[in-house]
Amino acid sequence: MQHAFACDCHNHSACSPDGHDSAAAMCARAQALGLYAYTLTDHCECQKFEERYRARVETAWEQMGSLTPQNGLRFYRGIELGQPNQDTAAADAALQGRAYDFVIGSIHNIRDFEDFFFLDYTGAPEGYIHSLLTAYWQELLEMIAWGRFDALGHLTYPLRYIQGEHGIPVDLQKHQDAIDQVLTALIKSGKALEVNTSGLRQKIGRTLPDLPLLKRYHDLGGRLVTLGSDAHCTADLAKGIDQGMETLKAAGFTHFALYVQRRPQMLPLE
Ligand SMILES: [Zn+2]
Ligand SMILES: [Zn+2]
Repeated sequence: MQHAFACDCHNHSACSPDGHDSAAAMCARAQALGLYAYTLTDHCECQKFEERYRARVETAWEQMGSLTPQNGLRFYRGIELGQPNQDTAAADAALQGRAYDFVIGSIHNIRDFEDFFFLDYTGAPEGYIHSLLTAYWQELLEMIAWGRFDALGHLTYPLRYIQGEHGIPVDLQKHQDAIDQVLTALIKSGKALEVNTSGLRQKIGRTLPDLPLLKRYHDLGGRLVTLGSDAHCTADLAKGIDQGMETLKAAGFTHFALYVQRRPQMLPLE
């Protein structure tokens, strides 16, 4: 890594349905890369908690507890809660009794829709895309109002698929008021904004959110940012983190946050 304090605080092991490598393998890779700190954050999709995720969450917690990182690697236990606003009781149950260091809150699907990954955008009129995004911002506001998370994961996630995979242009200017509402609510609530570097190795080709939105967050007074690769295998771990740190510097940030016991530790972007 080029940066002394490079951390990867968003990634998945095989405890996630779409993860490929064991928690131990991910941790060993973090050590080999020389990361300053490593936080594993397996999925919990809250609306499918009982039938699909409760056992996975319990297994992930046990596996993280049995890891013995070496060579001075700081290892922290996290979770990525999907759609906590859609089933707050399930979100609370996922957190109950487990002293996570870091909780990411994400919206992967809006109510009554599949994950943005699965939606069919072919031939979709502009109004349809606009309404999907409008619902997405709204659910982010609901999640922030719920508030039992530390960082908002991959803001602009729908664009990874709408723009990146399907090549449909989206004019975010038409959503600027809604985005400002989300960023302002996030800042007021004291939660962090994640820079997710997965987009750098995907078709969309930029971080989620990207430089203009990070600048906007900074202009509005936001200072809490976290960094994650969203790797689902050892090969992708920490990919794009160095570039993400440079993007943050370009947006005006001097520090980023590493969460330990749900509290931000500010580290320099050097
Ligand atoms: Zn996610
Ligand atoms: Zn993720």
